[in-house]
Amino acid sequence: MTTDSPDTLLNEPLLVADDPVLDMLNTQAMADGDVVDYWQNDGDVARWLVRAGWFDATQMPAFAEGALMASGVELREIIRKLLEQRKAGVQGDPAELNAYLRKALSHPQLVWDAPTGLRLDRVRKQQTAEQFLAPLAEAAAALLVSGDFSLIRTCEHTECVLWFYDRTKSHKRRWCSMAQCGNRHKVAEFRKRKLQV
Ligand SMILES: [Zn+2]
Repeated sequence: MTTDSPDTLLNEPLLVADDPVLDMLNTQAMADGDVVDYWQNDGDVARWLVRAGWFDATQMPAFAEGALMASGVELREIIRKLLEQRKAGVQGDPAELNAYLRKALSHPQLVWDAPTGLRLDRVRKQQTAEQFLAPLAEAAAALLVSGDFSLIRTCEHTECVLWFYDRTKSHKRRWCSMAQCGNRHKVAEFRKRKLQV
């Protein structure tokens, strides 16, 4: 799990989902009852892709202005819908995600850079923002197929919409983040108890 300094948390979405696809959904959050979308421009999406570990800063190609944000938001909402349906036990329509997957052109490439240094790389076509985001579409498809949806949940706080994959041993994770919603809940419970006394 990536950790952030408190300063970063004020301006950037939390990376607390313990899953890179769910962290993508969490770039939209609730603050004081309003939906906050952290993806307002190409720079926001690019910064997140690097922070979340999808790409190195040096790997970011230049697309037409607005293309990365438009594709990022579109893909995020396609994935959100399918995940919500999967979680609810509803059969979703995978056509939109399949359209992204169809554009994901890649091939394996054998690289031999030392007598014992042989590896298999994957070379991706990255001419469009959709193709650039293909690894996220592929990871989302894999999560939909193989994820344990009893452990894929949203934060229990009523004013929080963040997702997480509960990889704790006890499988009793309740909050997106103890610092954020766990404490908010504790404070609210404390106030309730105080009022009842
Ligand atoms: Zn929360």
